[in-house]
Amino acid sequence: MSKIQMKNAIAELDGDEMTRVLWAVIKEKLLEPFVDLKTEYYDLGLKNRDETDDKVTYDAANAIKRLRVGVKCATITSNAARMEEYHLKQLTPSPNGILRGELDGTIFRAPIFVKNIHCNVSSWEKPIVLGRHGYGDVYKNCEIKTPCAGKAELVFTGEDGKEIRKTIQVMKGPGVLQGMHNLDSSIESFARCCFNYALDQKIDCWLGTKDTISKIYDGNFKAIFQKIYDEEFKEKFEKAGIEYFYTLIDDAVARVMKSKGGFLWACKNYDGDVMSDMIASACGSLAMMTSVLVSPNGEFEYEASHGTVQKHYYRYLKGEKTSTNPVATIFAWTGALTKRGELDGTQDLVDFAKKLEKATLDVIESGTMTGDLALLSEPKAERIVNSWDFIDEIAKKL
Ligand code: NAP
Ligand code: MG
Repeated sequence: MSKIQMKNAIAELDGDEMTRVLWAVIKEKLLEPFVDLKTEYYDLGLKNRDETDDKVTYDAANAIKRLRVGVKCATITSNAARMEEYHLKQLTPSPNGILRGELDGTIFRAPIFVKNIHCNVSSWEKPIVLGRHGYGDVYKNCEIKTPCAGKAELVFTGEDGKEIRKTIQVMKGPGVLQGMHNLDSSIESFARCCFNYALDQKIDCWLGTKDTISKIYDGNFKAIFQKIYDEEFKEKFEKAGIEYFYTLIDDAVARVMKSKGGFLWACKNYDGDVMSDMIASACGSLAMMTSVLVSPNGEFEYEASHGTVQKHYYRYLKGEKTSTNPVATIFAWTGALTKRGELDGTQDLVDFAKKLEKATLDVIESGTMTGDLALLSEPKAERIVNSWDFIDEIAKKL
């Protein structure tokens, strides 16, 4: 057959460990035989990020801004252990943190449902989509380990030279300090991204924060969401028969567990980080979750929400063909190809991506799956396969 042509390229961000291994297999077996793949390649493997002092990550962010579509493999966030393991020059910041900071925007994560994997939370009849704010807070923080007793202050120096100063604490001994920020403009685009997503999918939108304790910081999220809802979305929501619901974050968590699902849960950056993993594992596996970062300028970065699956990688290095689940990484590619096709008006690319998604889910529903899903499958899995055999099955089906 002649290969499907792409009008424009997508930014391809390679990563680390087991997901990097599977990345190459997915391209070779599921994409390149069918699509004349046009990508701009950026190697975000830890070694290369270290060697380029993270320039490659910023270049990749610029490529996503220029091309409007990117696909990213999971990457290692360096820490002391990784520094030793990879002989790094320095501890580099989280590449996802850099990309999200550059692109701003909101990360939408939705579980992938298949018939034979039942959700652990029996009340959830429909997927809960999680909208995670992708900018600021603890992901762009500044920390100090204070060596002795002393006074900690928060100081803001305005462009006009005026200073605002508050005492955080008079500390009686050594301790730790953290400074965080967010921007009204980013919270506004977070709100618009979420309300637009909810309207598009015709689902309710929930937001939870801790505004009773953090009256100014979290209070700002609550106030901005309410203002944008009232001014820009209230009428549209009422027409669509959906609602915007605000509650405290702990109340939101309690209600989520008892809900039927089928709504968008807008979460601050950290809440979204933590809660998306809870939703993913409740719905089966971390590997059954899609993730896309949508910037306010209409740029899209698709990724898996799990990490580099380090433990499997070490077993792979010892020669084992691991049963690592590639579904989220495959769906990152299909998400990016679908968006590329939509933006370029190339329907055959969109159709191909949908067929690849269907082939992937069909293989699982027919009883062939990786070990993580086999633990949950009802009826029982017919064949538990390694990643390579699983990908071959999908290719056959395709
Ligand atoms: P992880 O890679 O998500 O894996 C944690 C565990 O979850 C695995 O050991 C495995 O459990 C299970 N798992 C995750 N993905 C799976 C898959 N596709 N198939 C089967 N099982 C899967 O998290 P981590 O081990 O805490 O982090 C490893 C590295 O990833 C770290 O360096 C971290 O910085 C990075 N990370 C990157 C991203 C990102 O780039 N978006 C996100 C999170 C973490 P079993 O061992 O029980 O099989
Ligand atoms: Mg997380």
